[in-house]
Amino acid sequence: KPTQIPELLRQIVDRITPDAERKGIEITLTCESNTPLVHVDPNRMTQVFLNLLINAIRYTPSGGTVNITVEQEPERNGENGILSITIADNGIGIEPEHLPFLFNRFYRTDEARTRNTGGTGLGLAIAKEFVLAHNGTIEVESCPGRGTTFFVKLPV
Ligand code: ATP
Ligand code: MG
Repeated sequence: KPTQIPELLRQIVDRITPDAERKGIEITLTCESNTPLVHVDPNRMTQVFLNLLINAIRYTPSGGTVNITVEQEPERNGENGILSITIADNGIGIEPEHLPFLFNRFYRTDEARTRNTGGTGLGLAIAKEFVLAHNGTIEVESCPGRGTTFFVKLPV
């Protein structure tokens, strides 16, 4: 279904803003104007972004910020270009040794386990499966103690 990703994200942000506010976390959404429609299953894409945002809130201490940005990457080689969605938090971060396994089912870092934040370790595995089903990519960069950024790229 042709979907306006900024609009989809706006709805998701509205939905989780109460949770973020309860924890004292600010969420910002910055979208380039006139981003192209992308063909996605809106329910599955909602699940992807919801999982990433619930994580960002869960693994960011009170007073933190979660910044979401949407921008189009220029087309090259006659391809239609890519819509790039970035979700950046300034939370606890992830030690580099965990990064290769992060999208595996049931994988949780020791930090997450000892914090007893009550997850199952499936959120990112599901997010990756859905993004790949849309011919997209999902990647992560993180700096322990400083924050984590997830990059989702979808073909236009
Ligand atoms: P579930 O999503 O099933 O409730 P979960 O959040 O623990 O449980 P995933 O969403 O798959 O599982 O994430 C896997 C692990 O990656 C988490 O347990 C946590 O250690 C780490 N992680 C994910 N997102 C972040 C983030 N934004 N900041 C820090 N660590 C993160
Ligand atoms: Mg999760």
